[in-house]
Amino acid sequence: QSNANASLMTYDEHVPDIKFTKLFINGEFVDSVKGRTFETKDPRNGRVVARIAEGDKEDVDLAVNAARQAFDHGPWPRMPGYQKGRIMSKFADLIEENIDELAALDTIDAGKLFSVGKARDIPRAAMLLRYYAGAADKIHGEVLKMSRELHGYTLREPVGVIGHIIPWNFPTGMFFMKVAPALAAGCTMIIKPAEQTPLSALFCAHLAKKAGVPDGVINVVTGFGPTAGSAISSHMDIDMVSFTGSIEVGCMVMQAAATSNLKQVSLEFGGKSPLIVFDDADLDTATDLALAGVTYNKGEVCVAGSRVYVQEAIYEDFEKKLVAKAEALPVGDPFDPKVQQGPQVDKKQFEKILSYIEHGKREGATLLTGGERLGTEGYYIQPTIFTNVKEDNVIVRDEIFGPVMSLMKFKTTEEVIKRANDTRYGLAAGILTKNIDLANTVSRSIRAGIIWINCYFAFDNDCPYGGYKMRGFGRDFGLDALHKYLQVKSVVTPIYNSPW
Ligand code: NAD
Repeated sequence: QSNANASLMTYDEHVPDIKFTKLFINGEFVDSVKGRTFETKDPRNGRVVARIAEGDKEDVDLAVNAARQAFDHGPWPRMPGYQKGRIMSKFADLIEENIDELAALDTIDAGKLFSVGKARDIPRAAMLLRYYAGAADKIHGEVLKMSRELHGYTLREPVGVIGHIIPWNFPTGMFFMKVAPALAAGCTMIIKPAEQTPLSALFCAHLAKKAGVPDGVINVVTGFGPTAGSAISSHMDIDMVSFTGSIEVGCMVMQAAATSNLKQVSLEFGGKSPLIVFDDADLDTATDLALAGVTYNKGEVCVAGSRVYVQEAIYEDFEKKLVAKAEALPVGDPFDPKVQQGPQVDKKQFEKILSYIEHGKREGATLLTGGERLGTEGYYIQPTIFTNVKEDNVIVRDEIFGPVMSLMKFKTTEEVIKRANDTRYGLAAGILTKNIDLANTVSRSIRAGIIWINCYFAFDNDCPYGGYKMRGFGRDFGLDALHKYLQVKSVVTPIYNSPW
């Protein structure tokens, strides 16, 4: 296999200096109250990149206090929308001026491809800020057609202080997916990045200040889930928690929200998304999309197309082509522009994926390719494809969050719809066919929040994104995400001076 021999030499010329390692509270970088720090490591080799301030409950209290003051008395929620938009556009300019540095921070923290960070993740973060900057002065309610002699209208007001808890797979992307619409809505916030990937969030906090976001509006508390994260979800003075991560932790967040101050909750979880390939699909495009579906961002994508269903007439050809492409995929240092799959985020995730692969082998699935680590240093795993799997196999049911695919054969449309829906998740699905009637029929039958026809991972700022079933609730992106951070107030007054 060629990727097994891929060069794992390291490209260190892009590795940036780490400038920001402290908590960002009320516009200042500060040590944690207890003075503790934790290590963040480079997944290319496991080496420590920096020591980061470890926030805990007391630090969350300080950050919430700053956000509360900024919400109750500060300029941000009261500022005219166009002025907020101007500051957000300046923030976007600064992101664009720092594309290389931000992309490099995500590469050494998360193992993401530097080339993809530069071309997609970071520029799209700036675009997302501009999208919501443009919406900030278009937030309005409605005049109501009341049924009596009353004049009624609604206002859309910011929800208040938001706690954003985010995962590690798209550090800069997730930061702006949460922060940009909440800013436009006029909220103030505390962001807790994942402990694996704190670097770009702190860098972005510094850019926010430079852009003119008032102190206290954006606070970043780095630290661990059970301490800093849990202090956010159970805080009495946070109005809403917006969480993206695992189902297990999401359940804890919802419970903590309910038993503290009943704060609003928005939850985004993982997935086990199906990609359905009908026998009229173009084989080259279909195999490219299928492979990208599990190797893009080394499979650490909540919408990874990890269950691939191929119609029987083309199955043999599809399998042969797919395996050849998987074996030729360049895996290696994410700073190398030729590489298409970097290392898994950390040792824990790396070991979790390898143990799923072992589980697959024990369950009797056929390993078509991959299944091993690459090299002896860092967290590289070969693109891995299993076939002869059953729907109730653990590798077909669980989200693996790595470059591991279950490849399956199907006969009829009815059968594949049933099998595709046989999951507790309902995040995304892909349908590949030239028959648009078939694509539309299947789209309506799949219980998932986003359906891609003849494409995959086709995200857009304007396209709301979130899941069905045990995939959480609330939407990110689009105007739906803006409305999530707004609440509706009704105002009523009599028309003819009658008291009711
Ligand atoms: P995780 O749930 O372990 O962690 C996510 C965040 O929650 C981290 O910031 C973590 O520190 C925090 N956290 C952990 N314990 C907590 C607690 N008790 N209270 C409050 N916060 C706590 O998830 P992970 O392993 O870091 O990320 C991978 C998961 O995220 C996968 O399941 C993946 O599918 C999901 N994900 C979903 C999306 C999406 O948009 N839907 C995007 C990316 C990742």
